[in-house]
Amino acid sequence: MDICREFQIVKRDYETACHIDPRDVVDSCNRGKASVPQSPEMREFELRDQIERVIGRAAAAAEYWCHELLDAEAIAWVPPATSAQLTVLARNAERLDDAWQAGGDLSRQCELDELAALRADLADVARLAWRRIQTPEPCLSIECPGRYVYDMDGSDDIKCDRCGDTVPYSQWGRWHSITGQRAA
Ligand SMILES: [Zn+2]
Repeated sequence: MDICREFQIVKRDYETACHIDPRDVVDSCNRGKASVPQSPEMREFELRDQIERVIGRAAAAAEYWCHELLDAEAIAWVPPATSAQLTVLARNAERLDDAWQAGGDLSRQCELDELAALRADLADVARLAWRRIQTPEPCLSIECPGRYVYDMDGSDDIKCDRCGDTVPYSQWGRWHSITGQRAA
């Protein structure tokens, strides 16, 4: 398992989960369906619960793992925001794995299982948000009045809503105006 990559994906899906409004999901689920087995209120309640649980779980895990890095003296401090903690974890993935290995094979396997489970749960929630998210970033092309949007379609790229200019995650992932949003 590439632990660094896992943390990058967890961070992306965590930030996606933080952006989801259950009402939008309920609206899009109801559209075009003849019969809805649940009331929208009930569905919204359940979705909100599911999203809050996975965000809380990610926050607790990131904090815990960051403190493992702190104990191993790999980092000097733990940033308060979960999103920033996940960046720290991706950057120090090797040191974290060293710390896990020092705890023995069984203990390390438990940590890897927890990371895999967290990733799967976050992916489930992130998949709900297939809709388009408007970012605050204006297009990089001079004279284009567009702004970048993030389509929840599995691609990491953001695209200009006017000219279609594409920016990969490796680039926009460092733009604080986007990644710092509501991801505390
Ligand atoms: Zn553009």
